[in-house]
Amino acid sequence: MSGIYIHIPFCKHKCTYCDFTSFPNRLNFAEAYMACLYKEIEKRGEELKDRTFDTVYFGGGTPSVIDPNYIYGAMKKITQCFHLSNRPEITIEMNPGTVNENKIAVYKRAGINRFSVGLQTAIDSQLENLGRIHNVRDYLYCASLLKGENFSADIMLGLKGQTEEDVKKTIELVAGSGAKHVSMYALTPEDGTPIYTDYLNGELPDSDEVAALYEFGKDLLAQKGYARYEVSNFAQKGFESRHNLNYWRRGEYIGLGISASSFIGGRRLTNTLDLDEYIKCILSGFLPVVDSAEVAGDDAKFEFVMLALRTAKGISAREYRKEFGSDWKKDFQRAYAKTAKYFEETGDTTRIRDEYLYVQNGILTEFME
Ligand code: SF4
Repeated sequence: MSGIYIHIPFCKHKCTYCDFTSFPNRLNFAEAYMACLYKEIEKRGEELKDRTFDTVYFGGGTPSVIDPNYIYGAMKKITQCFHLSNRPEITIEMNPGTVNENKIAVYKRAGINRFSVGLQTAIDSQLENLGRIHNVRDYLYCASLLKGENFSADIMLGLKGQTEEDVKKTIELVAGSGAKHVSMYALTPEDGTPIYTDYLNGELPDSDEVAALYEFGKDLLAQKGYARYEVSNFAQKGFESRHNLNYWRRGEYIGLGISASSFIGGRRLTNTLDLDEYIKCILSGFLPVVDSAEVAGDDAKFEFVMLALRTAKGISAREYRKEFGSDWKKDFQRAYAKTAKYFEETGDTTRIRDEYLYVQNGILTEFME
């Protein structure tokens, strides 16, 4: 299985925690950027015409902030230039403060069949603290436009003043609005972002408090019918994200647009983070790749183990052997012996026990040496 990722780097406003490649107030570059993106799609499609892709994902930034006809145009180009499988999963990320009926109609005409909505929290004052442009009413409107569709909602933990009651309200809002999938992840206060000051001032919940909120949220999501299939991802049966599953299975993907990365033919490629450089490269007939490295040997093995152990399914000894011709427990003998108590085994599969999945980073650190 292979996926296509497309980065749309524009936003209306920079959120206080954001360190993604996104540009508030550069929407006037959207036309030039999308024209370049179409050229990159053509170029990459020509190189990869022998491959079949099963998923397309528009991420950002805020893909829903630009004119929806640009997204329609990008999908048209993709279907012309790439070979897609029979029933591809095609996702767009949306900010609830940027959607309307017409946009959803255009997305559906473009073939988009999955929507990822950045709610974050059902508490308006917390949304304001995050610098989000939407409020709970906007989310409800967005969810009403997506009634009956396959859509996911993002929930963020570790917010200033966040309580279990707030997480409960958020999960109840999401479940009641008809979301089929939930991504629930912890806020990472990055140095250089405005929210980092709150972190330095001790105003954000500490890691034990966030872990407790996660455990509470995980149990409530299970009660609402969302099964955890990866540390931060929960879905009703049959609504797991195929695009993300491909990442965790170390499948190939091609990233298009500024800052996008690809994993193809055993190499990891990264596009430039600079908008002007991206446009210049494409207009000069070059691909905007600034970094290219082979992922092989021990690095590839570690990547396989690390990604598989993030998932509820865990690591399959058979799949590992098929890829590397060896036994993963022997390859990581010392780390496995040290961490075996955190695992459970079923047939040829080893997974991190449910209660340790959230703290898996500490376990995986052992495998890095
Ligand atoms: S909407 Fe997303 S990408 Fe845009 S500024 Fe906020 S966090 Fe960053």
